[in-house]
Amino acid sequence: MTNGRRHGREPVPFQQFILKVHSRCNLSCSYCYVYEMADQAWRSQPRRMAPAITARTAERIAEHVKQHNLSAVDVILHGGEPLLTGPEWLTELAGSLYTAIPARVNISVQTNGTLLRPAMLRALKDLCIRVGVSLDGDAEATGRHRRYRNGRNSFDDVSDGLRLLDSAEFRSVYGGILCTVDVHNDPVATYQALLDFNPPTLDLLLPHANWSCPPPGTGYADWLITIFERWYSAPEQETQVRLFAELIQLVLGGPGAVEGLGLRPATLIVVETDGSIKQLDSLSSAYPGAGDTGLHVLTSSFDAALDHPTTIARQIGVAALSPECQRCPVMQICGGGLYPHRYRSGAGFRHPSVYCDDLMRLITHVAGRIRADMDRLGASMSAPLDSVSTARSPQ
Ligand code: SF4
Repeated sequence: MTNGRRHGREPVPFQQFILKVHSRCNLSCSYCYVYEMADQAWRSQPRRMAPAITARTAERIAEHVKQHNLSAVDVILHGGEPLLTGPEWLTELAGSLYTAIPARVNISVQTNGTLLRPAMLRALKDLCIRVGVSLDGDAEATGRHRRYRNGRNSFDDVSDGLRLLDSAEFRSVYGGILCTVDVHNDPVATYQALLDFNPPTLDLLLPHANWSCPPPGTGYADWLITIFERWYSAPEQETQVRLFAELIQLVLGGPGAVEGLGLRPATLIVVETDGSIKQLDSLSSAYPGAGDTGLHVLTSSFDAALDHPTTIARQIGVAALSPECQRCPVMQICGGGLYPHRYRSGAGFRHPSVYCDDLMRLITHVAGRIRADMDRLGASMSAPLDSVSTARSPQ
């Protein structure tokens, strides 16, 4: 349900709320967009979200739910490192959210995994908070970037936490593993190392980059295709890989479900530790203040953020894309890539993704595999899949 047409378009209500509950981290990851990239605003944030802000945030989400008759919302606890808030604080927050919001509330936490000890996991399980863990692969891969400030590799601590999370006691709240691609690591060794933790889902993310701050490597498509082939060819599904599952759904003409692929309107909004309402968190990787809306939960509703130019750009699909993307044969599947990856200093976001060539190659490969299987089975093909057959880079 929506609130009606505004400014000639139909705004789509927010359904995913990222709460940056703790602004500091116990790791110092080299690629972190919060601490290591353009926007250093975290320095002025309170360490932990204050009770008045959590209570008001819960009320604001409830207000949005009622306004748009939403039946469910996702609340994702983020940071910094969100588990630095501690089990008691998380219990109070979850209580406020479950009490205030008149809809199903799916709470999850995205953690670096170093604080997943039995007492913390018991609290998360009692609160029905699902746990996603960020990890880049084996010890060597993790040690490249995910270190403590004193230089110590975080792998052993995360490994202990993941073993606990995968145990019979806590498996029910195991959400999955999120891996930021590093092409310097062997792709199959990385995939195998992550599979060893038995994740229900695996996310593979491209590192945040844009035309003015290029990716740290090359060959992302080849790296991902190697894992795709291993995953797709397995006699039984080893895990759900969200990127590949999403691409397959899109090449078959489905709507897509994650921001950064396809043309579905983005419905994710962020509340900073101090209560300010922000756009997609990873916009911090573009330039200082790129994610700012000028709104705050104490004084503004989430509806006010629906009218923000960046929300509009993230919701209007084709109309926000560059001319190159609009002409591109895989546009409906790619969607121009993740919004922050389109940025060029002084020229805004109306560009193809800085990963354009990789996205084109990956999509063409996945579509080719699906096409071959469909041909073998005699199934008919959908429009998006047909368009990929003639795909060539538009640039
Ligand atoms: S492949 Fe490149 S040109 Fe095509 S939609 Fe994606 S980013 Fe745009």
